This record gives sequence, C-alpha cells and structure tokens, in this order.
Amino acid sequence: MDIRRRKPSTRPPPAAAPPLASRIQASDALPLPIRHTNLLFSALFAASLVFLMRRWREKVRVSAPLHVIGLADMAAMICLVASLIYLISFFGIAYVQSVVSSHEDDDDFLLPSPAQPAPPAAPTLCPLLRSDKESISVPAVDASDEDIIASVVSGKTPSYILESKLGDCRRAVAIRREALRRMTGRPIEGLPIEGFDYASILGQCCELPIGYVQLPVGIAGPLALDGREFYVPMATTEGCLVASTNRGCKAILESGGAMSVVLKDGMTRAPAVRFSTAMRAAELKFFLEEPDNFDTLAVVFNRSSRFARLQGIQCSLAGRNLYMRFCCSTGDAMGMNMVSKGVQNVLDYLQNDFPDMDVVSISGNFCSDKKPAAVNWIEGRGKSVVCEAVIREDVVKKVLKTTVPALVELNMIKNLAGSAVAGALGGFNAHASNIVSAVFIATGQDPAQNVESSHCITMMEAVNGGKDLHVSVTMPSIEVGTIGGGTQLASQAACLDLLGVKGSSMESPGANARLLATIIAGAVLAGELSLMSALAAGQLVKSHMKYNRSSKDMSKAAS
Ligand code: ADP
Repeated sequence: MDIRRRKPSTRPPPAAAPPLASRIQASDALPLPIRHTNLLFSALFAASLVFLMRRWREKVRVSAPLHVIGLADMAAMICLVASLIYLISFFGIAYVQSVVSSHEDDDDFLLPSPAQPAPPAAPTLCPLLRSDKESISVPAVDASDEDIIASVVSGKTPSYILESKLGDCRRAVAIRREALRRMTGRPIEGLPIEGFDYASILGQCCELPIGYVQLPVGIAGPLALDGREFYVPMATTEGCLVASTNRGCKAILESGGAMSVVLKDGMTRAPAVRFSTAMRAAELKFFLEEPDNFDTLAVVFNRSSRFARLQGIQCSLAGRNLYMRFCCSTGDAMGMNMVSKGVQNVLDYLQNDFPDMDVVSISGNFCSDKKPAAVNWIEGRGKSVVCEAVIREDVVKKVLKTTVPALVELNMIKNLAGSAVAGALGGFNAHASNIVSAVFIATGQDPAQNVESSHCITMMEAVNGGKDLHVSVTMPSIEVGTIGGGTQLASQAACLDLLGVKGSSMESPGANARLLATIIAGAVLAGELSLMSALAAGQLVKSHMKYNRSSKDMSKAAS
C-alpha cells in the first residue's frame, strides 16, 4: 500500500476554526428535539410503505391497473417520499458532516514517522446526536423536564431525591445541573456531563452528581519489581511528575530491578468508649488483653465478612475513656467498611459483660484514618512495605546525571536531618505523596488516605566499596484495595487491570491489594531517586520551568 507522508503544513494553526459545538448541524433546523422528529418520520415512513404495499398487492390480486391511483395512494406516496427525504438528509448529512469534519482535521494531520506510532483513534460520537463540546455547554434536558427543574430551583423538590424519583441517573444529573445553572447564573461549561456512567456511582461513590472532572493519566515504566515489569498509571496535573518517575523506573530497570516485601497487612478501626471511672476502663483493657477473651472476640469480629480476620486489639486510656485499636486483615478490600462492621459486632457483644460501657463513637481517632498520626507511622496501617534497589554507579551518572556521594549526602541532609528539623511525622522523604496520590487517583483508591499512605522514610547509602547506591523506601501505612469503593468504576478498574490487580485475587484473598501496595512503593522508590537526583544536580527549577511552563515535546524528560 502506498503511504504518502505529508510535509508539515506551513499554514497557520487552525485557531480560527469554529469549535465543534458552534458548527452548523442539520439538526439545528429542526423545531422539535431530534429524538421526536426521528421517531415521527420513521413511523410515517413505515406506515406509508406498509399502506402502499398492501394497496399494490390488492391491485395485483384483483388485476386492477397499477398506474391508476386514488387520493389515499397519492397521500401515502407523498408521505413516503417526504419521510424518505428527511431520513436520507438526516443520516446522509450526518455522514457527510462527519466526513467533512474529519477531512478538516486531516489538513493538520501528519502521518507519523515510524519512530512516532500514531495514537489509537479516539471513539467518535455521532456529530448530529452529540458532540463533546455540545454536551459540555448544553446539558440535554427535555422540555418535559421544565416542571421538575423549576421545582428543584424553588426548593420544593430536594435535589438529592432526583435519582430515586426519576429512576434515571443521567437525567437526574442533567436536571440538577440545569437547576444549579439557573440558581447560580454560572454555566459550568467546562464540567462535562456526557461519557460517564452515573448509575455506577449511585449509593457508592458520590452523591448529588452534576458531572465529572477530567484528569490526565500518564504512564511510568516499566517498573522492574520482584522479577516482573509494571506500567504504572498516574493521574496528575503536575508537570514533570510522570516524566520524573519514568526516569527513576529507567534507572531501576537498568540496575537489575527493585525488590519489595510486605511486612504487615492489617486495617484498623478504634472505637472510643467511656466508663464512669478510669478503673472500669482499665478493667476492660485487661479483659481484652486476656488471650482466651481475644479468641472469643475474634470469632465474633470475623462474622462481619469471610475476609475479615482479627489480628489484635491495642488499647490506650485517656482517663476514663478507653480507645481500642482493632486490627484485621481484609482480603483485597481496603477494609474500612469491613473492619467497622467487625468492631460493631464486638461492641454489641461486650455490652453483655460491660453494660456500663458507653460507646462514644465507633471511631475515636486512635485508628487513625486520614490524619497524620504517630500510631500509623509506628504501628502501621493497611500494608507496611519496604522496597529497595541497588543502583549502579554508571546508571547514577548516565540516567540520573549525578553521583552516588552527592545523593547519599543530600538524602542525609534533606530527608533525614531536614525532616527532623521540621518535626516531620512520617515525612522523611522527598515527595512520596506525589506518587502515592497520582496512583491512588488513577486506581480508585480513597485520595484522602494519601495522608498516612505517604508516610515514608527514604534511605540512601553507598555500597559495593562506595561505588553503587543502595536506596530504599519504607512505607508503614499504604491503604489500598482492589475491590470496593472507587475501584469498580470503569476508568479506575482499567488502570487496576493494566497492573494485573483488578478485583479479588483468585489465588489468595488479599494478594492483589498487597501487590498494588508494593507497586506503589516501587513507584515511590523511582520518584525519590529521580527527584533527589534532580536536586543533587541542581536541575529541579530548570526542568520545572521547561516542562511545566512550555508546550514542548516531553519525550526527552524520561531520557
Ligand atoms: P471496604 O471494606 O474497603 O470499604 P467494601 O465493603 O466496599 O470495602 O467491599 C468489600 C466487599 O467486597 C465485601 O462485601 C467483601 O465481602 C467483598 N469481597 C469480595 N472479594 C473480596 C476479596 N478478595 N477481598 C475482600 N473483600 C472481597
């Protein structure tokens, strides 16, 4: 096949081309919504065709001349022709418009060179029915929705019941959004509404939806970890981050890969209970610490789920208040729901032996969820992971553009001493939270748990006679799951699938979530290596100015 490669166009960029939504479409001329006119003309076409066929068959049967036509025949023929013209112009013009617009785009399309494979074609939407721009700026609400919009605006209908009242999530979103537009006078044009399955978040991920936020997902890798290779999806708007992590992955790969181990795996929940005296609170503490009592309570706790297995209860007193930190394995789920159910079972059971126990809250903050806390840093929460690699001297020079002594010294002064000066809590690293947040968002984790999941101490030491670099990250509380929460949404599930950790592990419950935690630690290792190297080489500001402030090709960032 003859493939022409077009020269770069010297024409100015197509800035003057009208946006897709403002292009004139055939449907613009229609007085009714397209759905209705389509239905009307299709029905007309079918009815007149059936009528004429029957008449024709009748004439053949009675041997009447075919060319003699009555008034009814004439009307049916006119209807047939009119509906045919409509349908042809509808679908035909849609087709022509799509061809024309794709040709317009073609003008600026350059055949990629072999070194730059063409990106896969994006799925196209029928331009007559909807375009991305159109869906952003004009929420598709029917005229029949006017009453309910007015009712929401006036406050008669609470916005939160729209889904259950209408039984149509997409329509509920459009109505809520239109009501909001009228109430605020703000068109929220940039927030898309189309292209999202609102039923998938109902009662699970987000209430009162009006659209969704778009985030780019970049890919860093291959990350060579424990003898396997992973391409790590990162959702971020921070320029340089993916490129930098990618560079770290390259250094790890060229040095033979990283190794990781999960030291501990247990989610925690700590209810707060109160007694009339500190003596009584201490009595419960001692009761819980009796091995026989623990065994009984574990049976009660584990009834919450076939995946929940109670590992321990750590108690702490503040006067007459007792905090019981329950820790349990949760399979492939992040586990907050699971552990909370188990804790509730135990509290109900304990009430028999300790009827004077006043349950203040199922969560008493000794857990500790989504807040910086020493207990997570010291005891761990979720998955406690350590990941290490030895980066060869030549790779440090060639890929990271620095030296082993410079990195070791910088790590000591910045990540260890500097963080000590700052009174850091789990923050003995350069930017673990950057990588953790980006992977969390891409894979449907709870982004608020980035707080403790980013606890990390980065160590760098010279090994092999001072030639090579031993680097490690120790992260005691990576809270992740591959089932439940946001992990089942289409895009997040696709990112989990890319890593081979989607859903429940078939081999051993919890293996997918543990693997995800080690991949995150591996990506953090890569991110630490790259940023520390940029700092050691004094490149940070330079590269940020280059990649955050310009639209230039990013391909060199990873090199
Ligand atoms: P979380 O406890 O993280 O909030 P959910 O309660 O939303 O998670 O989801 C966990 C649910 O998934 C539970 O009902 C559990 O029975 C089910 N499940 C299925 N397979 C697994 C698995 N391999 N590990 C953990 N939970 C699983």
